[in-house]
Amino acid sequence: MMPASSMISVEEARDRILAFFERLPVVQRPLLETLGQVVAENVIAPFAIPPLDNTAMDGYAVRAADTVGASEDAPVMLRVTADLAAGYVLDTPVGAGEAVRIMTGAPLPPGADAIVPFEETDEPLRGVNEAPHKAGEVRVFKAAEVAANVRFRGEDVDKGQSVIPAGRVIRPSEIGVFANVGLTEVPVYRRPVVAILSTGDEITAPGEPLRPGRIYDANAQSIAAMAMQCGANVRLLGIARDTVEDLTAKIHEGFDADMIVTSAGVSRGDFDVVKDVLAREGEIDFWTVRMKPGKPLAFGAFHTRDGRKVPHLGLPGNPVSSMVSFELFGRPAIYKMLGRSDWQRRVIRAITRDEVVNVDGRRFYARCIVTKGEDGRYYADLTGPQGSGILTSMSAANGLTIIPEDQSAAQPGDEIDVMLLD
Ligand code: AMP
Ligand code: MG
Repeated sequence: MMPASSMISVEEARDRILAFFERLPVVQRPLLETLGQVVAENVIAPFAIPPLDNTAMDGYAVRAADTVGASEDAPVMLRVTADLAAGYVLDTPVGAGEAVRIMTGAPLPPGADAIVPFEETDEPLRGVNEAPHKAGEVRVFKAAEVAANVRFRGEDVDKGQSVIPAGRVIRPSEIGVFANVGLTEVPVYRRPVVAILSTGDEITAPGEPLRPGRIYDANAQSIAAMAMQCGANVRLLGIARDTVEDLTAKIHEGFDADMIVTSAGVSRGDFDVVKDVLAREGEIDFWTVRMKPGKPLAFGAFHTRDGRKVPHLGLPGNPVSSMVSFELFGRPAIYKMLGRSDWQRRVIRAITRDEVVNVDGRRFYARCIVTKGEDGRYYADLTGPQGSGILTSMSAANGLTIIPEDQSAAQPGDEIDVMLLD
């Protein structure tokens, strides 16, 4: 691979990283655990939905022919022979001049071919104490068309039909369809386990007292949250001191994960021990990516004793760089393991209201706030100073500008690309 001195583009880095990942094996998972995962095989309906013709309204099941000519002035009188609730089946046919009082979802009794809703009968006119089903008869005020208010067997799904195709990303509506056909589990590509390790002598876990010169570990938490949002299961490996022993031991703890993500220790000023350990445990390359924030990046694989290769994404230490790098490289990797190809964020054209200066020939992902103006166009305002340690600005932003490598500035009023973050 490439020496650390030469810069590579974001696309090149991403392509190299993605080439390393495959989608993970298929597993059966309970419905509610599959949100955001990908259906691995076509899901076939074992029966029709709805399974029987049934009523879409509360009303009376009738023979439409019996109601011909009915009006408020000349109602048709029908004899009510039964009362049918949803969940029950009536085998006795509805004969000429008869009706069955029926509740939404109840199967249409044989002989009936239409439903007259309560509103088109004298039922609403009856007194509250007059039990309607005991009335024995009903006046119909309006002629019913054949099939009126009937939901037909199989109108949603035919038996044997694929209800959800392989490759579909599971949303709440897919989960509803699975449940509708009686499934409790579905085949999906397994969620990746992402192990997350912070490195650095100065890094302290939140909850511990903060000694002078130390800082709290923001990266493990923000990166874990991003990985979870992408659909991964995360495992926090804690914080490795900048010693060969500690870093080696902590990395080994992540060897059963599908990807190890470390933060810090990949830029030039670091103790060499970090890079040495990472390189010694596998084939790790240290890249310089033509982007800002987040120039240094490490990627490669650790080699386990049993001959496996565990991909390693080494993020820069600055909290904003770390998040932006994970967005651009970690997210696509997780999506690929999940079988998802829709990792690309939406990019819109927006008018910048600030000057965005981009002096050093890298692509500038400046944190910005995108709003829609009254003219229907999008506007971008920078969140303020763009230091890569200013994490609150990441919280304020809902987008990242994409100022190209070869563009030294965008002026107020210029239209620019903005990648939306949520
Ligand atoms: P490094 O990549 O080790 O040179 O770190 C770059 C900057 O990021 C330094 O100011 C570190 O203190 C800071 N940093 C490294 N790791 C973390 C972390 N886990 N949380 C917050 N800041 C960090
Ligand atoms: Mg460091």
